[in-house]
Amino acid sequence: MSLPSSGSPSLKSGPSLSEQLITDMTTWRRHLHQFPECGFEVNLTADFIAEKLESFGIQVERNVGKSGLVGILRSGDSDASIGLRADMDALHIHEQNTFAHCSKHDGKMHACGHDGHSAMLLGAACYLAQCPSFNGTVYFIFQPDEEHGCGAQAMIDDGLFERFSIDEVYGIHNFPGLAEGELMVRPGSLMASESGFEISIKGVGGHAALPHQGIDPMVVGAQVILALQTVVSRNLSAISETAVVSATEFITDGTVNVIPTQVTIKGDCRCFTEATLARIEESMARIVAGICQAAGASHTFTFTNTFYPTVNAKQQTVYAVEAARKVLGTDNVNAECEPLTISEDFSSMLRVKPGCYVLLGNGTESIGGCALHNPKYDFNDRILPLGARYWIQLVNDRLGDAMVN
Ligand SMILES: [Zn+2]
Ligand SMILES: [Zn+2]
Repeated sequence: MSLPSSGSPSLKSGPSLSEQLITDMTTWRRHLHQFPECGFEVNLTADFIAEKLESFGIQVERNVGKSGLVGILRSGDSDASIGLRADMDALHIHEQNTFAHCSKHDGKMHACGHDGHSAMLLGAACYLAQCPSFNGTVYFIFQPDEEHGCGAQAMIDDGLFERFSIDEVYGIHNFPGLAEGELMVRPGSLMASESGFEISIKGVGGHAALPHQGIDPMVVGAQVILALQTVVSRNLSAISETAVVSATEFITDGTVNVIPTQVTIKGDCRCFTEATLARIEESMARIVAGICQAAGASHTFTFTNTFYPTVNAKQQTVYAVEAARKVLGTDNVNAECEPLTISEDFSSMLRVKPGCYVLLGNGTESIGGCALHNPKYDFNDRILPLGARYWIQLVNDRLGDAMVN
């Protein structure tokens, strides 16, 4: 993966935030960092966020998708709307940092910066509530359980896009390794899907010395694993369908002198479009069924999609790039970055509504440059105002009086 080089700051404009708001965002972020919660169990976090939104005069709907919440801020008489999304959940990691705001919940840690995403969206909400120079409705979406890939879908299943009239959705993730003050994005597929598979092959076990009396599922499984290598190399376009299919576990009930009765093969797939995803599943099912049938073995095959590919809409990516360039400077926004093989459950929202997901540099040095999900990671507080200003600019651009849909 190549990252854009540090561009010299160019013409910047966009909203400016008060010193008080910048200090508040840092305080909120460090508070959230100290009390991380995981999965759907983010009730203290949701309480904290709801209380802040209400203190800004923003209407709050709780328990959307279990512990998710939506803040609603209207201004003017336009029906136009925008959804801005942050994630709230942390990870089951023992934090190894020693600073004052490190985790006080043993074994849990904000190691992906969702504390920062929530704080920067709260900052934008506070600013927009005080200076509502837009015409329409802003929906502030705070979702649980991003890390397991279920929170966005839970909110959608609970009527996120029916109960709230949201035209388009946007998200931000911080990105260690990309310089502070820079942002990268691309139209189309930005991040990969993540899917797991499990193949169980049942043969007829028996004595290792008498294989002709049984059906050896080890040999069948080995053929399946080799044939799975042709899913990518012989079923997908070498130009347009980048994908990975990896068998990662081979479990048997055999022992040194016993041919097993059953083997289980597990693994992981990544790709960048739903069409490719469907082709991978289809090819795997066909290959497994054919090999097992030829050997006289029975089988089951399950393919579980955890994260869809994150696919940015073309037009909304243009809007995101324009807003980011106003705030960060033209040279600091890479609008055509390479796709990434990590995954993100904001993808579920992008399947329903047009929108754009961007990656905001968390820094390259010290803590800001530490990898996501690392026990020494920390969100870089200096990028809080950059994220909040990007949100505000995007709202003002999309819900300005002169907005053309
Ligand atoms: Zn993460
Ligand atoms: Zn994350």
